[in-house]
Amino acid sequence: MLGGTTEASAMATALHAAGVQAEFSYAGRTAAPVTQPLPTRIGGFGGVDGLVEYIRAHAISHVIDATHPFAAQISRNAIAACNATQVPLIVLQRAAWIAGAQDRWVHVADTLAAVAALPDAPARVFLAIGKQTLEPFTVKPQHHYLLRLVDVPEGPLPLPDCAVVIARGPFTEAGDTDLMTEHGITHIVAKNSGGTGAQAKLAAARARHLPVILIERPALPPRQIVHEVTQVMEWLHQSARLGV
Ligand code: NAP
Repeated sequence: MLGGTTEASAMATALHAAGVQAEFSYAGRTAAPVTQPLPTRIGGFGGVDGLVEYIRAHAISHVIDATHPFAAQISRNAIAACNATQVPLIVLQRAAWIAGAQDRWVHVADTLAAVAALPDAPARVFLAIGKQTLEPFTVKPQHHYLLRLVDVPEGPLPLPDCAVVIARGPFTEAGDTDLMTEHGITHIVAKNSGGTGAQAKLAAARARHLPVILIERPALPPRQIVHEVTQVMEWLHQSARLGV
C-alpha cells in the first residue's frame, strides 16, 4: 500500500486486523510519520522502473494507492507499474468537496491559476497548501501569507511576509476560526483534498463569508477508485475468491 494520508492509516488498521500480509510505503516527506500497524518502508522507489522492480522482488499481488489526491506522480507511477506487472490496482481516495450555497469558492486548475486569482491589492492569505508549491506565490509578495505546516521548515521560506503555524490535522472549525481571526485572514487558498480532517477551514471561511480559492485535483488516467476502506477489503476478498 502506498500511504501518506488518514485514509491510508485507516486502511492499514483494517488490513492488520484482517491478517492480510501487507507492507506500508511512505514517501518520507514528514519528519515523524504516523506509526503503522504494518511493516513500513520509507522513501521513493526510483520511478516506474523502481516500483516495477519492487513489485516483482516482493511478489506483490495487489497494490492499494491510498496517497493524497494531489500526489499525482506516485499515482501515475502506480498505474504504469501495475500495467507492466499485470498486478491489480485500486485507489482509496476521499471524495472531492462540493460547494454549498453559502460558499464563496473560486475554482482554479492549478497553483499558477491560484496565484492569478489572488487580488493585486495587499491581502492576508491563509495558504493551506503545504510547503511544496510555495514558489509561485513569490510573484505576489505584497500579501501576508499564513502557512500551516506539519514540520518546522528547514530553511528560509520563499515568501517575504509570512507566518508559520506548525500543526497536524484533523482540524476543527472553532480552531480554524480562531486562527483566521487571529491572523486577520481575508482569503484562503486550498487544495480540493476532500475528506473531513482538512474541511474545517472551509466551514470557518463559510461562516466568515471569506473567499476560498480552491485548486482542483490533477487529472489522471482512469483507475478503479473507491472511497471506503470496506470497499478495498471487499475487492481483496473478491480477488482471493477468483484466485487473482
Ligand atoms: P508525488 O509528487 O506524487 O510523488 C513524488 C515522488 O515521491 C514519487 O515519484 C515517489 O518517488 C515518491 N513517493 C510519493 N509517495 C510515495 C509513497 N507513498 N511511497 C513511496 N514513495 C512515494 O507525491 P507528493 O505530492 O510529493 O506526496 C508525497 C506523499 O505525501 C504521498 O504519499 C502523499 O500521499 C502525501 N501527501 C501529499 C500531499 C500533497 O498535497 N501532495 C498532501 C498530504 C499528504 P519515486 O518516483 O522515487 O518512487
